[in-house]
Amino acid sequence: MFDQSIQIAKFAGIPVKVHWSLGLFIFFIFGVTFSDSGSTYQSLFFTAYIVLLFISVLLHEYGHALTAKQFGIKTRDIILSPIGGLARLEFIPEIPRQELIIAFAGPFVNICIAAILLPFFFLLSLPFALDLEYIIQSTSVGGIIQMFFWMNLVLFAFNLLPIFPMDGGRILRALLSYKYGHFTASKVAVFVGKILGIALFFFSIFSGQFIASIIAVFIFISAHREITTLSLKALLKNTTANKVMRTQYEKIYLSDTITKPLTIFKSGKERSFLVFDNEDNVVGAIHELFLEEAGKKGSSFATIEEIRSDKVGHVDLHISLEDLYQELNEKAYSIVGVKNESQNLVGVIDRHDFGLFVKKNTKFRWL
Ligand SMILES: [Zn+2]
Repeated sequence: MFDQSIQIAKFAGIPVKVHWSLGLFIFFIFGVTFSDSGSTYQSLFFTAYIVLLFISVLLHEYGHALTAKQFGIKTRDIILSPIGGLARLEFIPEIPRQELIIAFAGPFVNICIAAILLPFFFLLSLPFALDLEYIIQSTSVGGIIQMFFWMNLVLFAFNLLPIFPMDGGRILRALLSYKYGHFTASKVAVFVGKILGIALFFFSIFSGQFIASIIAVFIFISAHREITTLSLKALLKNTTANKVMRTQYEKIYLSDTITKPLTIFKSGKERSFLVFDNEDNVVGAIHELFLEEAGKKGSSFATIEEIRSDKVGHVDLHISLEDLYQELNEKAYSIVGVKNESQNLVGVIDRHDFGLFVKKNTKFRWL
C-alpha cells in the first residue's frame, strides 16, 4: 500500500507522501459537492475543508515524528491516505515513558491548535455550537476557523480512544507497561483495541460512516498483527534450540554421490544436510535449494565434494531461538549442528525445522 504513495513535500528532513487514493478522494468530494450545490465556489470551499482536515492530520503526525526524534528515533516518512495519517517511525520504543510521550504528542498538537483558535470565537463572535451544516454553508473566514477548531477537537478525542494501534491504545499500553511489562501490557491493550474496534465497525456500519468502518477493519488487523509479532518474539526468546532440534538425521559423507541426499530430499523427510569426512568431522552442508535445482536438472552423478557448501556452523544446545534466527540469517546458514556441553554433536536444525516450529506456534487466534 505504501509503494503507491507520491512524495509531495519534505519538512524537517521527513518526506511527506500522499497515497493516490487520497487525491482521488478529494476529487470525488469536489464532484459530489458540485453536483449537489451547483456552485463552484461552495464546492471549492468544501474541498478546502477536507484539505484542512488533512493538514490537521499532517501536523498531528509531525507531533509524533518530531517527538520521536528527541529520543533518537528517526521517521522514514509520513503517509496520508483517506483513512488517516501514519508517521512511519523506524521503531516503536519499548520504554513506557518514551512510547507514552510519543503517542500523546500527536493529539497534543490538535488540542494546541484548538486552543489557539478558541479566542477567535470571541473576537469574531462565532457561535460555539458544532452545527456542521451551518459551518459548511457559511463559506467565510469564520467558517474556516470554526471548522478548523472542531476538526482538531475531534481528532484529539478520536485518537485518544483506547483502541490499539491508535494513540489512545498506545498510551494505554505504555501506562500498563509500567506495572505489567511490555508483553502483558500489549496483550491487554490489543484485546481492548480489538473489542472496541469491532464495536466501532458495527457502529460505523449502522450509522453509514463508510470511512470509519474501513478504519475499524484496519485497526483490527493492525492490532492483531502487533500481538502476533510480539508473541512470536517472546516465543523465540523463551525457547531453546534443544526443543526444535532433530536428533534423527542422515549423515552425508564426502564419498557419497548426490543421489543419497536427493532421495531423502524427494521423500520429504529431510531438506538440508550436514556433510562429514571419514573421521566424522562436519566439513560442510548441502542446502535444500541446491537439491531442488539438482532434482530438476537430473545431475545425479555429482560428488558431494563438488556440491557441498562450506557455510556451516554449530550452536549450543541452550541457545535461544531468537539468537539462532539471527545466526541463520547473518551467516546465511541453511542448517546448523547442535552441540552439547561436551562439544558433541547431538542434533541438527535447518531452516525448514525452524519454519515449521514458528508455523505450529502462531495459529490465528481471534482474541
Ligand atoms: Zn497519532
